[in-house]
Amino acid sequence: MRIAVLSDIHANLPALEAVRADLPDVDQVWVLGDIVGYGPQPNEVISALQAMGARSVLGNHDGAAIGTVDAAYFNPDARAAIEWTAGVVDENARAYLATLPEVRRDGEVTAVHGSPRDPIWEYITSSGIAAANFEHFETRLCLFGHTHLPIAYRLTSDGIDVQPGMPGESVRIGAARALLNPGSVGQPRDGLPDAAYAVLELDASIDDAVISFHRVRYEIDRTQRMMREVGLPPRLAERLSYGR
Ligand code: ZN
Repeated sequence: MRIAVLSDIHANLPALEAVRADLPDVDQVWVLGDIVGYGPQPNEVISALQAMGARSVLGNHDGAAIGTVDAAYFNPDARAAIEWTAGVVDENARAYLATLPEVRRDGEVTAVHGSPRDPIWEYITSSGIAAANFEHFETRLCLFGHTHLPIAYRLTSDGIDVQPGMPGESVRIGAARALLNPGSVGQPRDGLPDAAYAVLELDASIDDAVISFHRVRYEIDRTQRMMREVGLPPRLAERLSYGR
């Protein structure tokens, strides 16, 4: 089985379209939340995910856009964007976001936005935080997003093995338990502006899992132009050029 893993699309349809065009044949598409927020096309992105049959979880921006998550902790730009988003999400998008679970589990794979310990808010940004989170899910693998940084944390007998998700490279997970982040489709923050996604291969068996990390160029200026046209904070548009 092959699973496309997408996260933090952030209402960036040109980035999502580029990823969709770049995807190999996959059996399933999983989306790790923050479908909306920051970007200019929340409704279009949700329609595209529906057409792809994506299985999604709820991110902090998704909940904030429909009022089920408190946006008080957002920085001013993020809050301005979420207020704009809340004003434009249509009935279909609202209904879609309202049905998203915080945790999704299928076979030996769990999916969350932030972390299994705190699916909406926690950032897994170190091997210490990753180590603490292995007790909070029961499956072999856990997919997460939220940090916008592609990375694989494998639990080995020597502790946590950390491997950044380099473009075009694969990490063999083998029979280890692992926490895996594909990076961000719509607002990368690892210094590379290209849209990020990952493909999880469980072909032979769950004991022989491999994750590959991918980047794809998209029309950043198209997204930026739309963001300026609708009056989203300029800094949110500018940072797309740098992937920061
Ligand atoms: Zn995000």
